[in-house]
Amino acid sequence: MSDKIIFMPLGGAQEVGASCYFLKLGEDNFLLDCGCGLTQGIRFAPQFNSLLATPYLQDLHQISHVFISHAHIDHCAALPDFLQLNERAAVYMTDLTQEILSAQLEESFDRIRQNISTVTFLQKIPLPTLEVSFYQAGHIPGAMMTLIKFRGKNILYTGDYSTFPTQLVGAAMLPEEPIDILILCGLHARHPFYRSFGESDAALKRILHRIYHALRRHKMVYCQVTQISKGVELIKLINKFLPNAEIFIDERVMRIVRRFENLQIPIMNERDRPLIFFPRKPAVILSTAPPFANSNMEIVNGDFSLHDDFAATVNFVRRVNPKVCVVVHSPPDQRFHASTTLEQILINDPDSRTSFVFPETCESFEL
Ligand SMILES: [Zn+2]
Ligand SMILES: [Zn+2]
Repeated sequence: MSDKIIFMPLGGAQEVGASCYFLKLGEDNFLLDCGCGLTQGIRFAPQFNSLLATPYLQDLHQISHVFISHAHIDHCAALPDFLQLNERAAVYMTDLTQEILSAQLEESFDRIRQNISTVTFLQKIPLPTLEVSFYQAGHIPGAMMTLIKFRGKNILYTGDYSTFPTQLVGAAMLPEEPIDILILCGLHARHPFYRSFGESDAALKRILHRIYHALRRHKMVYCQVTQISKGVELIKLINKFLPNAEIFIDERVMRIVRRFENLQIPIMNERDRPLIFFPRKPAVILSTAPPFANSNMEIVNGDFSLHDDFAATVNFVRRVNPKVCVVVHSPPDQRFHASTTLEQILINDPDSRTSFVFPETCESFEL
């Protein structure tokens, strides 16, 4: 029996979008996440078929399990594509991820529902040669890290994570076991100048400031969110810091809000309402649709990141101190062409034992 560990990104390697990572542990084959990407408005899926050109698989049906870290599009929205190629695969995610995913995918969720099993944090799934368990990842509600124990080695896939609490969810909780192989979604691992100044949601607070000043000038605010789950975070924040603001929420965001509220996570206050008519007095319109041109409204981009910054990423890897760190979901620094990465900092740290891999999409490694 083989005890080889093979890793190959099918998307989302040194970029954001279509996160999907093939992991072969001996004879078992897994996918970690199964997301979509977008370039210039065109949707793309992970390169599943590239596996068929490798010695690792003859047939995509050999992939038995898919672990979905969280409900952002870039980590889960290609599930319908994959399950069309392998209708038998068992998919695992938390119940909250399933809730948000069903609202994101709308009708196409029905086609994949029967493949999904929901899991809870710290639950263990025993398979013949390994054991899988799940840990809170921070980032967004329902997000999980996946720990796999295989032949004496502990492999941790972080998914997107945050080591600080956000408006809706607490900080990541790490397993107690030492980690041998860390597969890290390191969004800012190559952005040495990216700092959130120790503040958990600096970008969210910037959005809030713009809303506050626009409302004071009696302007209508149109806030566009790119991902519906982020709209929920924004509603919470606006209600907390601008309790007099009225929020009109579009139907797609409302669908998720209702699901959170069904799970006893209160989101709306009594001034918020679904967007059916355009309000007549200054208010906040929260929508996933682009704003119309020539409007007299204050347009606020509601996009923000709930990821660790560069320094927090370095600290996280220092704390985990894995033998090997595979860094994915890690675009290069476009603005500064900086060469400093997580790796360069930790290579000079005498207490760090970590060696790094920054794989490209479709490049495979034996770990
Ligand atoms: Zn995410
Ligand atoms: Zn992501």
